Amino acid sequence: MKPFDIVIVGGGGAGLYAAMEAMKTNPALNIAVLSKVYPNRSHTSAAQGGANAALANKAKDDSVEMHIFDTIKGSDYLADQDAVDVLCSEAPKIIRELENIGTPWSRMEDNTIAQRPFGGAGRPRCCYCADKTGHTILQTLYEQCLKTGVLFFNEYFALNLSVHGSRSRGLIAMNMKTGKVEAFPAKTVIFATGGYAKMYWNRSSNAAGNTGDGQAIAYRAGIPMKDMEFVQFHPTGLRKSGLLVTEGARGEGGYLINKDGERFMARYAKEKMELGPRDLVSRSIETEILEGRGFDSPAGKYIHLDLRHLGADLIKSRLPQIREMSLNFEGVDPIEEPIPIRPTAHYSMGGIDTDNFGRTVMEGVYAAGECACVSVHGANRLGGNSLLDILVFGRIAGHTAAEEAGKFEPGSISEEELRESVEEIRTRMQPSGHYERYGALREELGQTLALNVGIFRESSLLHKGIQDIAELKERFKKVRVFDSSDVFNTNLQQVLELKNMLDLAETVAVGALAREESRGSHTRIDFPVRDDEKWHKHTLATLVDGKAIPGEKPVTMGRYELQERTY
Ligand SMILES: Cc1cc2nc3c(=O)[nH]c(=O)nc-3n(C[C@H](O)[C@H](O)[C@H](O)COP(=O)(O)OP(=O)(O)OC[C@H]3O[C@@H](n4cnc5c(N)ncnc54)[C@H](O)[C@@H]3O)c2cc1C
Repeated sequence: MKPFDIVIVGGGGAGLYAAMEAMKTNPALNIAVLSKVYPNRSHTSAAQGGANAALANKAKDDSVEMHIFDTIKGSDYLADQDAVDVLCSEAPKIIRELENIGTPWSRMEDNTIAQRPFGGAGRPRCCYCADKTGHTILQTLYEQCLKTGVLFFNEYFALNLSVHGSRSRGLIAMNMKTGKVEAFPAKTVIFATGGYAKMYWNRSSNAAGNTGDGQAIAYRAGIPMKDMEFVQFHPTGLRKSGLLVTEGARGEGGYLINKDGERFMARYAKEKMELGPRDLVSRSIETEILEGRGFDSPAGKYIHLDLRHLGADLIKSRLPQIREMSLNFEGVDPIEEPIPIRPTAHYSMGGIDTDNFGRTVMEGVYAAGECACVSVHGANRLGGNSLLDILVFGRIAGHTAAEEAGKFEPGSISEEELRESVEEIRTRMQPSGHYERYGALREELGQTLALNVGIFRESSLLHKGIQDIAELKERFKKVRVFDSSDVFNTNLQQVLELKNMLDLAETVAVGALAREESRGSHTRIDFPVRDDEKWHKHTLATLVDGKAIPGEKPVTMGRYELQERTY
């Protein structure tokens, strides 16, 4: 195949914005987007609530500076303040740019872009398209990419980075339609493969494909992962499936109620109530359940999200998808009854370590979106800041790669490298002797993570989690693929995804054990206080000769000093 200037792995919001911007920066470039699903089925399409920008349409006194402060405070002071400046200053521009290329934002009565309140935000600044925001953004971007001549390789599964010395020469991927392993020689590669919260399996709001593939590929190629211990639990997952009920439901005025009929958030966040930040609201719900004030059912313990007082009109017009999901997955109509919910693993704050331009430590390799850690979310992301992150930093990474591609030699990938990737797959596909099935391991991984590396963490639990993961990794060596077909071998794909999840799960659990403090989403029962002296820093995990080597990086401070975080 002719070498590419840029190969982007991922067709979600980050990947597509990167592609569109790279094309705009230099239309002569040869740009490819690889995606294991059709781009418009990426997890971005599931984002319901919206994207933050201080447009000051709803609250006239809102400002970029307030957005910056809310984000830094929300991050429990672990975000890099220069990166947060970029995120929030670019936000109004990016929302308007999306409007100009066709995103149908919901409107207020004066016809300006509508904004709703979101957790941890001092002003209503979340811009939305009903409760289908990610879907509309993704459709808009896909259309633009097709228009500008980006080449799409849909249903291609990325396997490995081709690394020579200190730089990459491109990517190796499998064509899922034929089973053929193909080379994508490239001057630059941008990872935009989304998050890894699906490792919590059925206690997760994520799509089945959010298995952290890009992070695992980069990790195995020696690129450091940053802040992996920070996994966000969203307060309102549906009880049975973990599927998400958007924060927009509380933004519109929904209540959280325990079995005694109390709006219990008054105990934990007097001022912000249900609109406290996610880490705090999730801990509050779990505490209510642990202390016996939750409801019980064969499908597990839960509490109520009550929307009835909002009225049928508002629910139908602003939260139609939530109503549909509650009806389909819980058999509950929120117009008539409260929705049973429980916190669900939702977002990975950690990821591939990048600078503010999307560069990693490896020449020619960039990352953006949920798979990257810039870091703008620190220890806890605010709702509405991730769509914003993928757009702003997707655009920046696309621009940087387009500007820098000329510096690098055209990539080339040898036949031998391709053969190694094929060989690895072939071994998996030859059942012999005692073997394991991936389904059981995937389930067990989710269970041990939810139990031992969940919302409340503690040394003995984390040791158990690490031991379980090590055992699962050992058993994984015996996992075999039973579908021998070359065409859409989803069994093989799931096995490869499990390998990625296992590698990353280890970094999450080891990072959580090392960090002896409580900060943002990371709550240690045995170290309940934030310890700025020892732990006000980012953690790194780098794979060297098969071993994870821990490292650290200072947090970039700016105008805001460390403060106690109360709501
Ligand atoms: C249910 C839900 C609701 C959300 N709501 C909001 C919200 O309202 N506001 C907000 O700010 N954030 C929200 N978020 C978070 C936000 O949507 C995500 O963080 C964001 O969309 C991630 O975008 P991305 O482009 O980084 O990755 P994704 O959209 O996840 O895309 C990843 C892409 O990578 C590709 N890929 C992955 N692995 C491979 C591989 N091995 N080979 C080839 N391709 C691969 C996939 O095919 C896909 O195209 C929500 C998240 C969820 C799960």
